[in-house]
Amino acid sequence: MKKGLILKSTGSWYSIKTSDGKIIQCKIKGKLRTLDLKSTNPVSVGDWVDIELIEDSNDVGVIVNIHERKNYIIRKSSNLSKQTQIIAANVDQALLIITLINPITSREFIDRFMAAAEAYRIPVILVINKTDLYDESLILTLQDINETYAKIGYKVIETSVIENKNLDIFRSLLDNKISVLSGNSGVGKSSLINTIFPNINLKVGKISDYHLKGKHTTTFAEMVELPFGGYIIDTPGLKGFGLANIQKEEVYHFFPEIFRKAQTCQYNNCLHLDEPKCSVKDAVLTGEISESRYLSYLSIVDDVNTKYR
Ligand code: GDP
Ligand code: ZN
Repeated sequence: MKKGLILKSTGSWYSIKTSDGKIIQCKIKGKLRTLDLKSTNPVSVGDWVDIELIEDSNDVGVIVNIHERKNYIIRKSSNLSKQTQIIAANVDQALLIITLINPITSREFIDRFMAAAEAYRIPVILVINKTDLYDESLILTLQDINETYAKIGYKVIETSVIENKNLDIFRSLLDNKISVLSGNSGVGKSSLINTIFPNINLKVGKISDYHLKGKHTTTFAEMVELPFGGYIIDTPGLKGFGLANIQKEEVYHFFPEIFRKAQTCQYNNCLHLDEPKCSVKDAVLTGEISESRYLSYLSIVDDVNTKYR
């Protein structure tokens, strides 16, 4: 028996890298105990598994055991179904690439992404790209966003592919980690990666769009190995990930600065909407909590009210 990491899944076959660096093609053993019964795929890229080679074969095997996951990203298999699909497991971090122009990333998009990442317990790094295009007024916005998120505790970096700004830092963030790269199309995900690693030719987001338009999307996620160690998860539909199936009482748990403030609200079931003696609202009034963050919070609570009730 060998232990290995799933790098790729295509239908019922998985490519697995073992500790000796070999790639083994595997299927799943018939009665494998799975970790999540509601999901359509029992294992996904990023999963550590035990495999047994098929007799007389060097590079074909079966998955006989799955190791516990530290986290995983799921999405609903379709809009109607309750079944979920595991997109990736054991993700070390998500890099959310945003731009303030060409295209404009909305504050709400950022906050929804970050809240979902908190829910999945995946650390997020905010990468503000295309700074070469920013005029004076956008530079002010840039500083505001940088400070807002840094104060909450998120790591923020400013990059420009054109000016080669902070690309070395961006690269070092990826070293030896399993990363998910997200962001609206056109923000520069492929450019960043292909500039740093010219031989990779990652299609971040590109296959994704194509796959999403297909009628029955089969999972086709892949972890692309980086030359200096580490992997990038290249997967359908990871523009952002959703906050499905949460209760409105839980939403503020995924806004770290609101969660901290909420400890001193008068009511311990305070939703920070219009309850009296709410520390969160007070902090928004004094500017200690960013108004745009609070508005994103309200918008998510409102969604939970209408969509999931
Ligand atoms: P993706 O959809 O997120 O993968 O975005 P792409 O990497 O395809 O980039 C979209 C467009 O933005 C391309 O025309 C890139 O050349 C351009 N681009 C990417 N990064 C930068 C940057 O830092 N500054 C400027 N001015 N353009 C950029
Ligand atoms: Zn409150």
